[in-house]
Amino acid sequence: MNVLVINCGSSSLKYQLINTDTEEVLAKGLCERIGMDGSVLTHQPAGKDKVTIQAPMPDHKVAVSMVIDSLTDKNYGVVDSLDAIDAVGHRVVHGGESFSEAIKINDEVIEAIKECNDLAPLHNPANLIGIDACQALMPDVPMVAVFDTAFHQTMPVKAYLYGLPYEYYEKYKVRRYGFHGTSHSYVSKRAAEILGKDYNNFKVIVCHLGNGASISAVCNGKCVDTSMGLTPLEGLIMGTRSGDLDPAILEFICKKENISIEEMNTVLNKKSGVLGMSGVSSDFRDLTAARDAGNKRAADTLDTYAYNVAKYIGSYVAAMNGVDAIVFTAGVGENTQSVRKAVSEYFGYLGTEIDDEKNAVRGEEIVISKPGSKVALMVVPTNEELAIARETLALVK
Ligand code: AMP
Repeated sequence: MNVLVINCGSSSLKYQLINTDTEEVLAKGLCERIGMDGSVLTHQPAGKDKVTIQAPMPDHKVAVSMVIDSLTDKNYGVVDSLDAIDAVGHRVVHGGESFSEAIKINDEVIEAIKECNDLAPLHNPANLIGIDACQALMPDVPMVAVFDTAFHQTMPVKAYLYGLPYEYYEKYKVRRYGFHGTSHSYVSKRAAEILGKDYNNFKVIVCHLGNGASISAVCNGKCVDTSMGLTPLEGLIMGTRSGDLDPAILEFICKKENISIEEMNTVLNKKSGVLGMSGVSSDFRDLTAARDAGNKRAADTLDTYAYNVAKYIGSYVAAMNGVDAIVFTAGVGENTQSVRKAVSEYFGYLGTEIDDEKNAVRGEEIVISKPGSKVALMVVPTNEELAIARETLALVK
C-alpha cells in the first residue's frame, strides 16, 4: 500500500509517499510560500535528481494538486496515477482531550479537530486546510488524522494539571497536553526493540531535541509525563522558544519594554531559546562552532541547555522511580555529540557513563553508554513520517 503523509503548515506543506510494504520512501518534498509571492515546490523522488518547480500556489489546494502532479509526472514521478495513492495520513498538531489515538477522518472528526483550534491557533487550522485540500482532490481515498498530542493522553491527572484555579481546566481545558507524540511513541518503541526489552515492562526517557524540543517519560508503554504543555512553548530551552519561565517575567518585560502580550508571545516563541541567549544562532552547528572559537555567551548557553535537559531527566527518573534507557533523538539529539556528552555528565547517580567513541557516531541507531552501565544511553533517529504511515495503514487496511 502507498500512503501519502501530509504535514501542512499555514504557508507550507511537507509530504512523503511511503510504500508501507517495504517502508521505502518513494518520494518526498516541500511546498513553501503557499499564498505568497515566490511559491516553490521541491520534489525529491527516490534515486532521482531533486526537482524544483517555481509556480504560483495561491492556496493549499493548488499546492496539493502540484504535489500529485509531481508524484505522477512521467519524468520525475514515482507512481503512474492517483489510483496508486491508497491512503493519506495527516499530521494534526492538537487533538485536545478528544483524541488519544489516530483516527479515520470523517465529518465528525473534522468538527472535533475544529473544536481544538483554540488550543493550537497557528497549527490546527492549517492542518484542516490540508485535509480539506486533499479531500477535494482525492475524494475516494481514505484519510487518517495522526495527532501530536495523542500519545500523551495516557498521562495521569497529577502530570497534566497546572497549579491554577480548576475552573480554567473546566471552562477552557487549560492543562498539559504535550507534543511530538508521534516521535516519542516511535522512538520509545524502537528503543525497547533495539535493547530486546518488553515495551510493556520498560522505563524510558525520550529526549526529542530538535528546533522544538520536548522530553517524555514512558513507563510500560504509556507516556506518564512530558515537558511541553498547553502549547509547545513550555519545557526545555529550545532553538528560539524560551521553555519554562517564572510567569511573572511576562508582565515585567511587557512593562519595561512597553510591548503588548502578543509581542511578548513573539519574543518567547521566536526570539528566545538558544538564539536569544547566545545572540549567535538557533542552530547548534553555529553555536558549537562559536563556543569552540571562544565565544563565552555561546558556551554559557550550551551549558544552560544541557543542565536544563539533565534536570528534566532527573525529574522523570523520580516520576518513574527508575529508568532503563535514556534516548536522544531529532536534529540536535541525533547530531550534536557535545550536547549528549554534556547532558550525560549529570548521570553519575544513575551508574551510567557515555562511551566517547560510540557517541561520535552520528544519525544511526546506537547504544552510546559504556558496557556495564546500569542505564542504556542511546541515539534513535526519529521518523515521524514512517510512524504516521504505519498508523494510517493500521486504520485503513
Ligand atoms: P529538527 O527540528 O529536529 O529538524 O532539528 C533542527 C536542529 O537540529 C537544527 O537547528 C540544528 O540545531 C540541529 N542539527 C541538524 N543537523 C545537525 C548537524 N548535522 N549537526 C549539528 N546539529 C544539527
